[in-house]
Parts: sequence; structure tokens; C-alpha cells
Amino acid sequence: MVGRLSGKVAVITGGTSGIGAATAELFVAEGAEVLLTGRSRDKGNALAEKLGNAAVYHEADVTQEADVKATVDQALDRFGKLDILFNNAGGPTPGDVNGITPEQIRYGVDLLLTSVALGIRYAIEPMKASGGGSIINNSSIAGLRYRQGNVLYSVLKAAVSHYTRMAGIELGPHSIRVNTISPGAIATPIFWGGSARANTLTDEDNERKMQKLQANLSRATPLPRSGLSMDIAEAALFLASDAGSYVNCHDLVVDGGRTSMFMEPPVPGSS
Ligand code: NAP
Repeated sequence: MVGRLSGKVAVITGGTSGIGAATAELFVAEGAEVLLTGRSRDKGNALAEKLGNAAVYHEADVTQEADVKATVDQALDRFGKLDILFNNAGGPTPGDVNGITPEQIRYGVDLLLTSVALGIRYAIEPMKASGGGSIINNSSIAGLRYRQGNVLYSVLKAAVSHYTRMAGIELGPHSIRVNTISPGAIATPIFWGGSARANTLTDEDNERKMQKLQANLSRATPLPRSGLSMDIAEAALFLASDAGSYVNCHDLVVDGGRTSMFMEPPVPGSS
């Protein structure tokens, strides 16, 4: 069977957990060759092994420019070209409005925005050489609505969505499409501190937290179930594949209708 990504080469950052891991599985199932990255070597290697010859893990920290560049170089070395980049890696950011520090801001910018900007930058020439490509940046409904993340996370995800529009305009003439996905509440370890924290817990503890989270999130939208990593992977597949070939500069909200709901105002004195 010919998959929807047959013959395509994809890089997925943050492929060791949650949304990125589900996307790596789906992309390989649809015929892509995938280089997945992250810092959790054991988890990355285990997933790549499970997915077979079409997948390889490359250890990289997206806050380090040299790692971002090396990621693209590795994909070219291993698979010979680059068609799809999913800038997905990310996690919680510290700080609140009253007391935020320059260090917290710098950390957040490095993790959520600089990583995306540099990922795009290093993908441009290889994608031009392939005759075009699809870049997908993982944003968030936190960039659209109050109370879906703290202040820094929300502002930086809004910046990711707008950076995406600007990049899609500049790169469109090279047939490189740049889009964001804005997930709603998706059941992943990001809710208990991100994959780095999850690595410190047992499988049983992580599974217990996941079950509890899914039960809670099933009440978070008009739909009677939790958002799942595979919901976002399917959106990424659409944007990466030829089905999305006329979609550019778009922010694809996948939230079960959550952004259409009224969000409660802050409790006075809570910040
Ligand atoms: P997750 O399960 O915690 O996965 C986060 C991934 O990002 C992991 O693979 C992690 O890998 C990687 N990562 C984090 N910091 C990194 C760094 N400095 N360098 C390299 N990789 C790094 O969380 P998730 O929910 O799947 O999050 C994926 C993306 O979706 C994030 O950008 C997040 O902001 C966005 N998002 C999530 C939701 C949601 O409800 N889950 C909603 C909106 C947006 P290592 O730990 O191996 O480094």
C-alpha cells in the first residue's frame, strides 16, 4: 500500500514523548522516513527500534543552535533529503506576571521560539533542494486564549503562530509551506511537568497519572473524551501530506471546541 507520506523524509523534534512520538509512529506508518529527536536517549532509541529501519533517533537539545543544525545534517546524512520538519519539542515555562525574571524569559524564548526559528532556518536550503517542503510548528491554544498556560508560555506560543505566518509568506515562493497546529488540552506528560519529569517516575506512576488526566480532560471540551496525541499527529499528517498542499501560513486549531468555550476570569488576588 502506498502511504500518504511515501518517499518523504521528516524530522520530528521532541519525538521521544507525547505528541511527537505519536506523530513519528503515524508518519512511519504512512511511508515516511523519520529522524526523531529529544534528550531522552533510551526512550528515543526504543521508539526508533520499534518503528524499524524507517526511523532513527538523534539526541538533540533544541535550545542549542549546534544541535538544531546537527539535526538537519543528520537527516540529510541518513536519508539524503528533507521534506517535512515538525518543530514540536517544548515544555512548560516558569514565571508569572508578578515576579518574572530575565532568566525565565530567556529560557522560555530559547525553548519555544528560538528553537522554531532556527529549525526553520536550517531546513530552508535542504527543502529548496527538494523542490519544496512542509514545516509544521507546534503552537497552542494558549496563544489564543487566557488560562491555557502561564504568561510566558502563552505569549511565546502566540509568537510561534505569528512567526509561522511571516515565514510562510517568505518561503511560499520556494514551495515551502509553513503552518502551525494549536492543540487544545492533549493528554501527555506535559501536564505533570513534561517528559523530563516523567522520566523520573515509574511506568506505573506515569500510567496512573495518564488515566487520571484523561478522565479530567474528558470534561474539558464539548466532546465527551480527552484530546489524545494521535489527534495532533493526524493534523500534522494532513499538513505534511499532499492533502494540505494549498495550506500555508495557517494555524490549525485542534481542540475539541475548547476555544469556543467561555474561560473563567482570574480570581482576585491570585497573582
Ligand atoms: P511531552 O510529552 O512532555 O513531550 C515534549 C517533547 O519535547 C519530548 O519529546 C521532549 O523530549 C521534548 N523536549 C522538551 N524540551 C526539549 C529540549 N530542550 N530539547 C529537545 N527536546 C525537548 O509534551 P507534549 O504535550 O507532547 O508537547 C509537545 C508540544 O506540544 C510542545 O511544544 C507543547 O508546548 C505543545 N502543546 C501541547 C499541548 C498539550 O496539551 N499536551 C497543548 C498545546 C501545545 P526530551 O525530554 O527527550 O528532551
